[in-house]
Amino acid sequence: MSEPDEADVLVLGAGSGGYACALRAAQLGLRVTLVEKDKVGGTCLHAGCIPTKAMLHAAEIADTARHSASVGVDLGEPRIDMGRVAAYRQGVVDRLFKGLTGLIAGRGIDVVAGEGRVVDAHTVAVGDRMLRGRHLVLATGSVAKTIPSIPLSDKVITSDGALALTAVPRRVAVLGGGVIGVEFASVLRSFGAEVTIVEALPRLVAAEDEALSAGLQRAFRQRGIATRLGASVSGVSESGDGIRLEVDGDEPVEADLLLVAVGRGPAPVPGIENLAVETDRGYVPVDERCRTTVEGVYAVGDLVPGLQLAHRGFAQGILVAEVLAGLGPAPIVESGIPRVTYCDPEVASVGLTEAAAREKYGEVETVEYNLAGNGKSQILQTKGFVKLVRAKDGPVVGVHMLGARVGEQIGEAQLIVGWQAHPEDVAPLVHAHPTQNEALGEAHLALAGKPLHAHA
Ligand code: NAD
Repeated sequence: MSEPDEADVLVLGAGSGGYACALRAAQLGLRVTLVEKDKVGGTCLHAGCIPTKAMLHAAEIADTARHSASVGVDLGEPRIDMGRVAAYRQGVVDRLFKGLTGLIAGRGIDVVAGEGRVVDAHTVAVGDRMLRGRHLVLATGSVAKTIPSIPLSDKVITSDGALALTAVPRRVAVLGGGVIGVEFASVLRSFGAEVTIVEALPRLVAAEDEALSAGLQRAFRQRGIATRLGASVSGVSESGDGIRLEVDGDEPVEADLLLVAVGRGPAPVPGIENLAVETDRGYVPVDERCRTTVEGVYAVGDLVPGLQLAHRGFAQGILVAEVLAGLGPAPIVESGIPRVTYCDPEVASVGLTEAAAREKYGEVETVEYNLAGNGKSQILQTKGFVKLVRAKDGPVVGVHMLGARVGEQIGEAQLIVGWQAHPEDVAPLVHAHPTQNEALGEAHLALAGKPLHAHA
């Protein structure tokens, strides 16, 4: 039997995974205690998805102004006021934070402010206070990784520091050409900085289909973003007012600021040693119901190995709440989770890359529909493509898109992949003209063997 002050669900961490779990559990009539040491909303709301996408929107406006003369509107070279960019960004965050706080309070969730320490599978201590729960959900999220030989300083920062910039640096080096690296490279270039990305692997956004990496690299080159791929940094030193990166077998990179974007790792769970739970380099592996190896203890979000995406965290949080309420939810299919990188041009994908599909199915068919044939993309003056991958004579198993605003097209793409549609199922669906969404329709027409605005 529960003690009177015992919750049904005790959630450690109120980021995307934790608060989604708390909200859904409360909606299902469970008593919830949510422990948060900082602010509800976590990294996504306060230091990740939302503020960085606000920066990217400001960047898009800067580029729109810069290129306005090409459509006959003279706005001229933009002037970036980082203080006012930050104020705009913070306004967005504040409004969402207020809404979320109200939502959590409205559902009767007991929010406990402070750092929680796991005492056992049913107990979390916050200061002197002991919180009890029938079930424990670990949702502490992730933190930016750093490189021990490259200590952070006022000139060497992670994405957290990039959000605190008060001026646009003249020259920026970005270490890591993954998602965070390319998004910030894109923003800072749009704001007028000279940007060089230094990436250890031979391509940008290396988790994506190779065609997307190649296309993004081409687009970045045209935007004047320099890339050093397959680069190994042997040392970083302060030189005068700036920073100097020594690159093995190549010229050093001189910059005023170094942004380290080499991945995110699991945030520590204080007291996790009291649980005897299986961990993997700080991550907490789970089964398809987000159960850890300890009875009654669950984990969600970036703490769980796999895609580090807020929407995966939401989905896992909701899943745990529904498991605990006895609803028997369907497991989450990790490969069906859409991925969007909001640089310019955007990168959006769902399902398997061509290489992964070949590994899984042997023979595959692909098609690339170039946005040059898409009216709306031409109006927006963006370049890119939609690439489809299908198992031979089978369903579409991967959709990969490059181009301005293509992230907005991922919804249809994920339904196609998620519902295992064949190109022949999608081909008869009429797509609105003129939209970029048409490009997705055209790609399926092409894969079904009846291209309209493309060569057969
Ligand atoms: P990442 O794993 O996407 O990229 C890190 C990159 O750094 C890799 O390409 C890696 O090869 C490179 N790297 C590592 N060590 C290096 C070194 N010593 N020298 C040169 N390169 C090195 O990680 P990230 O970009 O830091 O992002 C962290 C997580 O946050 C990711 O999982 C990402 O999906 C998530 N995120 C998602 C979004 C989005 O969905 N739009 C936005 C931001 C972050």
